[in-house]
Amino acid sequence: ATQPYDDQNIFAKILRGEIPSKKVHEDDHALAFHDINPQAPHHILVIPKGPYVSWDDFSARASEAEIAGFVRAVGKVARDLGFVEPGYRLLANVGLNGHQEVPHLHIHLFAGRPLGPMLA
Ligand code: 5GP
Repeated sequence: ATQPYDDQNIFAKILRGEIPSKKVHEDDHALAFHDINPQAPHHILVIPKGPYVSWDDFSARASEAEIAGFVRAVGKVARDLGFVEPGYRLLANVGLNGHQEVPHLHIHLFAGRPLGPMLA
């Protein structure tokens, strides 16, 4: 089973407004903001508002409305920021081998340069 949700994780604090973030989108189900250590010219993190540790946790426990709202938000952010042409990359790290560092589900959205082939 997944670890319990830690409401002191950094993205929980961002969701509560306790620490600042550079927001690019917010709606009922999702928040999107700039990664603090960008790995591409555009590096956005999209997170669900609910307390989900990871993609594994979210896909198992979230409601249909939360899942639909989150998936729609990821696509909308990419469209609104003009990433669809020439393209972008989505990534979600899960667990130790996935090197997930923050225990609140986040989708990385990379854009702004040719990203090359996937690594490992
Ligand atoms: P992970 O390795 O968990 O998939 O990625 C965590 C991401 O969160 C990293 O890309 C890291 O730069 C970003 N990050 C960590 N702390 C903060 C923060 O306080 N603010 C923002 N905007 N991004 C953060």
